[in-house]
Amino acid sequence: MERTYIKDLHEHVSKEVKIKGWVHVRRDHGKLIFIDLRDMTGLVQMVALPNHEDARSIANTLRNEWVISVTGLVNKRPDKMVQADQPNGDIEIEITDIEVLNDAETLPFDITNDTQDIDENVRLQYRYLDLRSERMQKNIRLRSKFIQTAREFLFKNQFTEIETPLLTESTPEGSRDFVVPSRLHKGLFYALPQSPQQYKQLLMTGGFERYFQIARAIRDEDLRADRGFEHTQIDIEMSFVKQEDVLNMIESMMIHTVEKMGFTIKEKPFPRISYKEALEKYGADKFDLRTEKEKEAGVLAYAWVVDFPFFEKTEEGGWTFSHNPFSMPKDEYIYDLLNGKNIENILTTQYDLVCNGYESGGGSVRAHRRDLLEATYKIMGYSSEEMIDSVGHMLDAFTYGTPPHGGIALGVERNIMNLTGEVSLREVQAFPMTRGGQTAVMNAPKPLAQKQLTELGIEIKKK
Ligand code: ASP
Repeated sequence: MERTYIKDLHEHVSKEVKIKGWVHVRRDHGKLIFIDLRDMTGLVQMVALPNHEDARSIANTLRNEWVISVTGLVNKRPDKMVQADQPNGDIEIEITDIEVLNDAETLPFDITNDTQDIDENVRLQYRYLDLRSERMQKNIRLRSKFIQTAREFLFKNQFTEIETPLLTESTPEGSRDFVVPSRLHKGLFYALPQSPQQYKQLLMTGGFERYFQIARAIRDEDLRADRGFEHTQIDIEMSFVKQEDVLNMIESMMIHTVEKMGFTIKEKPFPRISYKEALEKYGADKFDLRTEKEKEAGVLAYAWVVDFPFFEKTEEGGWTFSHNPFSMPKDEYIYDLLNGKNIENILTTQYDLVCNGYESGGGSVRAHRRDLLEATYKIMGYSSEEMIDSVGHMLDAFTYGTPPHGGIALGVERNIMNLTGEVSLREVQAFPMTRGGQTAVMNAPKPLAQKQLTELGIEIKKK
């Protein structure tokens, strides 16, 4: 007999079905043994009666989280037994046969209750069990739905999904890199991408015009509730666009995605506010526009922040970029950028998407001409050699007909935090790291075997 999913049981009332899943709870009432069975689609109550003796004696041995296959009859419950508030509260499976597919030790913690208060190290050591809990199942599925819905929109709008390399070059993008030693070229290192920024721009030079990727961004930053070493971005770049075009496209994508998922947006079109005004009004460039009532109702309050300063002072008294060195200044500041004048007042085309107090995305129109990117790096104090060493490939590409372009990256975790109301990024990633930077389930970071170190030409300094 083919397997029936628990969510579809109502189509089989009074018929025999085979269902498979985990023993959620088992209640022994002497003559009757009740078992709630859980699969990825739901939960149903089953009962082992004395008239099916073999099945009942197996039912007697079952414990929580055993994996079983059950054959049984889908019965309507008598009226007084109906639990109207439960999804399958009006039916019950009368067990006729049970096959045990795998047993289970007693779990290190109870997954039938919310696991949020369980010690995080224990939760992450056994993340594969934690993932069975209702909240984690909901969060991870919602994440998948969000990406699927955004993808649908992007494909409909002529975007091409393209993967960019994970082993790449260390570049100055704002954070510390994670580096990977090369075995073939001892003493040399790759870096994991902080974002696909440069490759996606080079795809514009490569004629793809509309690119997206569900991309991993890996940054060695201090860990916070809303920031991990790894996060995922919906990374987007478009050719022949101005700031307005990107904002409109992304706004349509977000509206399509979250409304299709049943969420309510506070204000459309999204309000726009300058960085300066945001600081004056909210004291920060991320802010929450919701009322208390809207917070309770899970409303999403999006806003764009624009007109950021391009540069900020370094501790040494020089200049560095505030968001992205590849940005284009606003039109009225192109002259200043090219001439290295009025630097503190140059505004960039950077835009941030803010939602419910988080920065849920950010991007800019890019400097697509060699002289513009050179001017930015010159302001940041790079010599010609340093510039070539750092972004020479971009400068080169810009001399071969790179179209005007711009893009954005949306942080998947922060968006899912907004959709679920979670306040930690770890609640919306399947296998997050601990607060201390240890991987879930697996044991990293850890020492390498001497053989690997030798192969890589690495010597570890004794403390
Ligand atoms: N690469 C930028 C980031 O990861 C986003 C962008 O400008 O597209 O923050």
